[in-house]
Amino acid sequence: MACCWICFEECSTPGNPLKNHCSCQHLLSHSKCIARWQVQQAGKKEEKFCRFCDKEMPNWMDQMCGGKIEKNNPLMEFFYDGKKYKFAIEPGNFEHLKEQIHQIIGIDISKNYNIGFKVELNGEKLDLHGIESFDVASKCAAITYHMRRNLLIT
Ligand SMILES: [Zn+2]
Ligand SMILES: [Zn+2]
Repeated sequence: MACCWICFEECSTPGNPLKNHCSCQHLLSHSKCIARWQVQQAGKKEEKFCRFCDKEMPNWMDQMCGGKIEKNNPLMEFFYDGKKYKFAIEPGNFEHLKEQIHQIIGIDISKNYNIGFKVELNGEKLDLHGIESFDVASKCAAITYHMRRNLLIT
């Protein structure tokens, strides 16, 4: 039986089909498994392209939240030198966060700092490493914020 190379399960459902997501015929995965895997590759080439056949992978955001989310500004907690700060971020806009941190704390986070992001996606906590993962981390925050708010409304 064919199974998902990420979770090793065989089941396939309309909401989470088991299928090819690139040109590698032998590589089957669930849409949600591959999306989560792409998130964990944040900032690397594998976030968007298959590492074997180089084909562009589907947009992970479409799988995680059905594509469209309205613009929002989730809060990000930032820990530095034993203190906690809160910033409203613009998803995908690293310069905006960098500017706020520079004004309030006086450091330039694009220089030699060991930065990681703790994000939550579909109730699962993920650790992303490096400043280059900001784009994905901030989009995860926007999705979680969007879903929470929609849950409250409906
Ligand atoms: Zn799977
Ligand atoms: Zn491939």
